[in-house]
Amino acid sequence: MDKTSNEIVLNLPHCVVPYVQDISWRQYLNEKVEGNKILFTDENIFRHHKESFEGFATIVIPPGESSKSQERVDAIIAEMLEKEVDKTYTLVAIGGGVVTDIAGYVASIYKRGIGLVQVPSSILAMVDAAIGGKNGVNVGQYKNMVGTTYQPAAVIYDFSLLKTLPIAEWRNGFAEIIKHACIKDKELFDELVSNELADYMADIEKTKILVQRNVAIKIKVVAEDELETGDRKLLNFGHTFGHAIEANYDLAHGAAISVGMIMAARISEEIMDFYSTELDKLRLLFLQYGLPIAYKIDKEKIWNSLLMDKKRSKDSMNFILLTTIGNGVVQPISLVQLKDLLEQIL
Ligand code: NAD
Ligand code: ZN
Repeated sequence: MDKTSNEIVLNLPHCVVPYVQDISWRQYLNEKVEGNKILFTDENIFRHHKESFEGFATIVIPPGESSKSQERVDAIIAEMLEKEVDKTYTLVAIGGGVVTDIAGYVASIYKRGIGLVQVPSSILAMVDAAIGGKNGVNVGQYKNMVGTTYQPAAVIYDFSLLKTLPIAEWRNGFAEIIKHACIKDKELFDELVSNELADYMADIEKTKILVQRNVAIKIKVVAEDELETGDRKLLNFGHTFGHAIEANYDLAHGAAISVGMIMAARISEEIMDFYSTELDKLRLLFLQYGLPIAYKIDKEKIWNSLLMDKKRSKDSMNFILLTTIGNGVVQPISLVQLKDLLEQIL
């Protein structure tokens, strides 16, 4: 695949993945991706961008988290077999994190692996889900229990897709942007404080710069730790609680991790000397971007889901806590202490 200058590059020991910025995805496919292509998207994106899919074989799935299941994966694979997709094909996913997660998984297992190009269409997928090659589907209520790490040939940023993204999904995506700011980038936090979501929605150039900054943050972390043995864990800030909330309540990923981040920040206040003034700033920023900072949670249900977390070891769990805004750390917490802490913060 040709290189263009407009790329942020993920360098891994076994491959190099270009994150190509600001290009029409259809143009990119026509000019840069050789061989057969099978497109993959959800009904919402297909409806809004129908003309872009013309001339390509396309698999369309129902939108939403409930599609991230093994049953759906089996149905997609059956459709690919029916369409005689073979090893020469590239699977091209155009969608939010649900679509890019399923596509990554399917591409990695179909005939033991076919080509993959990701075209994230939501803010959340652009700054997070489509970066780094991790994918997964849910098993019952348990999030991302099955999946692989599989790098795409390229990730394409076509910002024109954002014109049809609903405001609620802009909010969800900003939850991951705030996450990046909290764990790695105090300056980004300050930028977010001095802007509003409406500023970004109205100014696509401003959004591009913001997205690219976030792509660079995540790529740097992934490049140093592809398999999540070290720093990549920081990207789970708010997610252990967030996933436990998602398992029990019908809340969007962005909203669930916002509540999860506030819970993790409260624990940081209890055991890491994270200043309460910083916690207040964090709460205000979430509210400024239309994200929830609390949810009526049943302690028992959350506790049971936490015990099912795939990152739990026998007696303890790693949590991502903050020492200050802009500095996340990995902190093991014993299950005994965690239970006490939950009593305190909920
Ligand atoms: P999503 O894919 O469900 O998209 C949200 C909604 O926006 C959907 O209804 C979708 O149809 C719609 N949409 C997306 N782009 C659109 C567009 N351009 N125009 C109109 N509508 C559009 O969810 P998401 O919030 O993008 O991603 C959440 C998922 O990502 C979760 O399943 C989460 O587990 C996963 N995720 C994965 C990783 C990873 O590293 N693999 C990281 C973060 C999140
Ligand atoms: Zn997330």
